Amino acid sequence: MEFTPEIMREIYSRIKKQAPEHTFVSRDPFWMLITTVLSQRTKDAETDSASIRLRNRFPGVRDLAGADVDEISRLIYGVGFYNVKAREIKEIARILLEKYSGSVPENREELMSLPGVGRKTANIVLAESLGKPAIAVDTHVQRISYRLGISISKDPSKTEEILESIVPVDLWIGFNPTLVEFGKSICRPVSPRCSICSISEFCEYFKRSQKSIEKNR
Ligand code: SF4
Repeated sequence: MEFTPEIMREIYSRIKKQAPEHTFVSRDPFWMLITTVLSQRTKDAETDSASIRLRNRFPGVRDLAGADVDEISRLIYGVGFYNVKAREIKEIARILLEKYSGSVPENREELMSLPGVGRKTANIVLAESLGKPAIAVDTHVQRISYRLGISISKDPSKTEEILESIVPVDLWIGFNPTLVEFGKSICRPVSPRCSICSISEFCEYFKRSQKSIEKNR
């Protein structure tokens, strides 16, 4: 099917109604950046508690820039690659302090020049903290787009390009966290809950699975 901006608006509105509300531990740009780096390959609960522990001990950019790496490691223990991330986030704080007077840069290229910051992390910070339209394609957004038939590419940057060409710009902010929650609760990686899914009529995966059920009757 053709995914026009009108259809994408309808799909998004249904997803938003069905997915639980996503909550960020902080919308402050610096803590959004640090928390998103911590979240890579880590479950939400671990990420959030590590971020809160770290922020309570080192609340500002200057505090974190001057922190001891081993102490950062201990505070974020439990997140994936915590030793690597401890070094990265201290370095991020140092660069922000030295190069940007302690602020978070507001464009993708500069964000992506920071250690541990890829396109997905940069886009989350831009959209969800700095209010700049961007669509972050993580594993949930990629999987849902693939199953729906929006993107046959497994390359997240290609999927991002396709989504940005069909999703109305006023929906870009909030798009990632909404799809993430939908991906965790309905369009799960294993055993998607297609029978209760509000967008099944638009979904290629669902249509294919219905056909195969009929064929095997
Ligand atoms: S119908 Fe199933 S595969 Fe398709 S979006 Fe819904 S839950 Fe995901």
